Amino acid sequence: MPKQSPTDRVRNFDEVALGYPEDLAQEEASRCLGCKKPFCVDGCPVGIDIPAFVDCIVKGDFAGGIRKIKETNALPAVCGRVCPQEEQCELKCVLGKKGKPLAIGRLERFLADWEAASGAIETPEMASPTGKKVAIVGAGPAGITVSNDLALLGHKVVIFEALHDAGGVLTYGIPEFRLPKAIVRREVEYVKSLGVELKTDFIVGKTKTIDRLFNDFDAIFVGAGAGLPWFLEIPGENLNGVYSANEYLTRCNLMKGFRFPEYDTPIKRPSNVVVFGGGNVAMDSARTALRLGADEVHIVYRRSRQELPARLEEVENAEEEGVIFDFLTLPTKLVGNEHGWLKEVECLRMELGEPDSSGRRRPVPIEGSEFKMKADAAVCSIGNSPNPLIPMSTPGLDVGRKGNIEADEKTGKTSRDAIWAGGDVVTGAATVISAMGAARTAAQDMHKFLMEQC
Ligand code: FAD
Repeated sequence: MPKQSPTDRVRNFDEVALGYPEDLAQEEASRCLGCKKPFCVDGCPVGIDIPAFVDCIVKGDFAGGIRKIKETNALPAVCGRVCPQEEQCELKCVLGKKGKPLAIGRLERFLADWEAASGAIETPEMASPTGKKVAIVGAGPAGITVSNDLALLGHKVVIFEALHDAGGVLTYGIPEFRLPKAIVRREVEYVKSLGVELKTDFIVGKTKTIDRLFNDFDAIFVGAGAGLPWFLEIPGENLNGVYSANEYLTRCNLMKGFRFPEYDTPIKRPSNVVVFGGGNVAMDSARTALRLGADEVHIVYRRSRQELPARLEEVENAEEEGVIFDFLTLPTKLVGNEHGWLKEVECLRMELGEPDSSGRRRPVPIEGSEFKMKADAAVCSIGNSPNPLIPMSTPGLDVGRKGNIEADEKTGKTSRDAIWAGGDVVTGAATVISAMGAARTAAQDMHKFLMEQC
């Protein structure tokens, strides 16, 4: 797929990958073997009928293709861009055994973008109104998916979102150059076109508790995500210039810091940035820092390249853009200047020891390997857990060891009557499509519950 060149793109926030033109999409789609038993569908958490939409592309029936995808996926332009297809549908593609798997994600994106460009957005057939009302907490991928499914089934849906804009991580976390916000807005508008109401600046647990929402609603779905950042818990984390990835990316994306001075959001434009972590969030933070004008950006990761949890495509993009990777490196202390601003990071070199409980080899410090890195900003991207606000304000809602709401895997049902949950708030930080898969499961069980009520 064509991309902006690395030298051009580090100077702008425009989308890096440019998408397939029609001829390339059809050429790629024609590689599909049309397997009798399509393993790719098993690899998709929302069960998209992949062979059917690919066949539509081959035949030039793009409207038919996008209609097929939307039967099970309300966010095709998002999923086509950020889903880890290499670990899901494309991993199971038979073509991958001998060569390159079919580029399923890119084809999905092609159809979604074709539909947007054509302006002919179709709405699926909707069931007649049931008279039941459902409240959704959080307008991230999980909340949007449940809303889509329940609205199509005829229920009245209202989403309560804490921030001033919908989309969850898609809006405040993933940067513009990977997922343009106009695309997220388009997909949110589509769900609103099904009659879903969106109330922003509404913090469930503060503005109103879940129990008070029950005065007006028959059932509630909690898709509040995992927005509570973890820190390294080393000395110096309170220095100026040290951010959590959430804060850094929110300032830049949601609050449009990258368009300063047009938007008056303060965000530091440092020269030397160190990002801690090795996932998609770390890649996004590092690439954002480069675009904000940093001279040198390092990713400090305590394991080796092989263990990087980020998508390979994003690691390669970061490398092409000039991000420097410091593998097997552990930050131990953040050191400030006399004005309380970060000036350097003390680190230790590591080596890989025996596998730990995750099956990955445990990084072990090498004695006497201490060294310092120059840094005037640091971004901590080592993970997140769910915010405790909802469990704390909802008696009887069971939570797990890491603060995640406990929900039945097969139904999404929580320990409280008429409350379901799904996405990162249940699993901890995961993926867009896993949040959507859990949401679809919950929507089906909620529908059953609502229809059984007199
Ligand atoms: P979220 O997207 O977090 O949405 C939750 C929503 O609930 C938010 O809008 C929040 O404001 C709202 N909320 C929270 N508490 C309340 C409350 N009390 N009242 C009202 N509203 C509330 N996944 C991928 O698949 N591919 C990627 O490339 C990828 N890159 C990522 C990059 C970054 C920087 C980050 C942070 C994550 C990335 N992920 C990626 C992970 C993915 O975005 C999440 O797994 C996914 O968004 C989870 O969806 P969700 O709906 O459960 O939660």
